[in-house]
Amino acid sequence: MSGGRTPDRCSRCGARPAVYRRVYSGEFLCLDCLRRSVLRGIKRVISRYGLLREDSHILLVIPRWDVHRAAAELFELVEAAFPRVRLDLEDAPDVGGDYWSSLLAAAKLAASDAGGRVPVVPLTLDDALGFFLLFYSGRPLALAVDGRLSLGPAAAVEGTVALPTVEIPMAEIQVLFKVQRPEDPILSALDRMEAAAPGAKMNLLRTYHRLVAPRRREPFFK
Ligand SMILES: [Zn+2]
Repeated sequence: MSGGRTPDRCSRCGARPAVYRRVYSGEFLCLDCLRRSVLRGIKRVISRYGLLREDSHILLVIPRWDVHRAAAELFELVEAAFPRVRLDLEDAPDVGGDYWSSLLAAAKLAASDAGGRVPVVPLTLDDALGFFLLFYSGRPLALAVDGRLSLGPAAAVEGTVALPTVEIPMAEIQVLFKVQRPEDPILSALDRMEAAAPGAKMNLLRTYHRLVAPRRREPFFK
């Protein structure tokens, strides 16, 4: 288990009850430590990929799902520490179609409406993995690389969208905000894969980065 402590206590603070097991690190986390860790994860992505500056003007477009509203809230908490950041919010349009079309519509709106602003969409790790699976199964809607979403030709919009929450597993947002995962066969398949082989999503992410890395310097969509 974790350092000899019983798993009903948080592995980090040792004080509060654990509510979530982070399989890839072996930790059991309480709500407070999970939240802190997730916020740190967002800051890490922003700084590693240079997504934002201290005085960025941001257009945050929020897909209509509860998990993305929650992810947007976490992102806003991180940005609240930077008083010179300006943040405009927009709800993504309901375009019909499936889950992935709705995410693409949000990204498309962010990219096309940004003007001089930094377009941001609060996608999760599961969303990045889903777009990856779709890309290699003949439906190249978009691809998340280095903290940004490259839009495929179906978007008919040039450019990339910043993804500060892209390394947060959807399950962690579900636990933090007590929200449901959107109903979608690819998200279900990812969850089944994770249940059958704990840590599978993180392994898929590593495989994905290895496959994508050699192509970073050329356009993903031609
Ligand atoms: Zn804790």
